[in-house]
Amino acid sequence: MIPYGRQTISEADIQAVVDVLHSDYLTQGPAVPAFEIAVASYCGAQHAVAVNSATSALHIACLALDVGPGDIVWTSPITFVASANCALYCGAQVDFVDIDAKTYNLSVERLAQKLEIADKTGKLPKVVIPVHLAGLSCDMEAIHALGKQYGFRIIEDASHAIGGRYKDEPIGGCKYSDVTVFSFHPVKIITTGEGGIAVTNNPELADRMQLLRSHGITRDANKMTHVSDGPWYYQQIGLGFNYRMTDIQAALGLSQLRQLDEFVARRNKLARSYDLFFAGMPVLVPWQHPDIYSAFHLYVIRLQLGKLNKNHREIFELLRASDIGVNLHYIPVYRQPYYEKLGYDRNDYPEAEKYYTEAISIPMFSGLTDQMQLEVKEKIELNLR
Ligand SMILES: *Cc1c(COP(=O)(O)O)cnc(C)c1O
Repeated sequence: MIPYGRQTISEADIQAVVDVLHSDYLTQGPAVPAFEIAVASYCGAQHAVAVNSATSALHIACLALDVGPGDIVWTSPITFVASANCALYCGAQVDFVDIDAKTYNLSVERLAQKLEIADKTGKLPKVVIPVHLAGLSCDMEAIHALGKQYGFRIIEDASHAIGGRYKDEPIGGCKYSDVTVFSFHPVKIITTGEGGIAVTNNPELADRMQLLRSHGITRDANKMTHVSDGPWYYQQIGLGFNYRMTDIQAALGLSQLRQLDEFVARRNKLARSYDLFFAGMPVLVPWQHPDIYSAFHLYVIRLQLGKLNKNHREIFELLRASDIGVNLHYIPVYRQPYYEKLGYDRNDYPEAEKYYTEAISIPMFSGLTDQMQLEVKEKIELNLR
């Protein structure tokens, strides 16, 4: 089976992990801060807080922005459930903004319309979480302008997008957002096994997230409520979690980061090759914006079902049966039973619904060889007939 995505691990990556295993610190050692500095510097952000997953990063980013009961968070319905769950963890409500027909990202027009209505009904969101689906940046300038107009904060869920660029600057620079979150799950662009990071230019948010990732405990005398009892002393000044990344993971991340540009270039090369292959076929290829360099975490095709003799599910099943590990990113979040109970109306999201009936993610990862890609193309051609 050729999977839709998988990690690429080099001998240098393996050695970096082995080196940590031989060292004094498996966790809370020097690799985590070194990784944080490297990611922040890559993105052009001031601060980075490494954690054990992007899910944790989204949670502490929401908490740092004071999301709590009575608040509303908006995100895209076409995303992994974690983009929405983070708001529920904080006791807030979630609502969805339908996607754009072309980019499959949260639609800025729908967002503007929904904000206008929410403003009148007093139900404005506290935070909006745009998701850079497949690695293609959202229109952050426009979303940021709406944030200024309506007073909401922004967390970019860039789990798919490290190594990508928006208007010639790296994703994660946080020019148009409060916090940007990346995931290092093995199917993502670079990996730490499990892991995530939150980057920000706001020192106060960085401090809050650092506390939240480790029990709410500080060893910084300046943050304590009174003078230290002695050299052993620390204080818990908030309620946090154990969301720490280990040094084993951070060392792998540092080594992976050195290959990031190469990985993303390879993904873009594979995408161009797929684009050419699909030209003239009853398939829509991922639309690209001239100002955006996608990290191409995913390559999503949309079946033009009116021009095909088979349905979406048949084609999906035939591809799986022929050892092509296709997938569907994503089931609209409001269709999940847990969310259905919270009362969303599918009719509010016509573009997400349409997307769900046509989309298929085909193999896309830096280790996909030309030979493997050829096999994928041949099997798709055969099974679309
Ligand atoms: C993978 C992913 C997450 C969660 O990442 P983890 O590191 O697995 O917690 C969140 N949002 C999106 C869009 C993702 O794809």
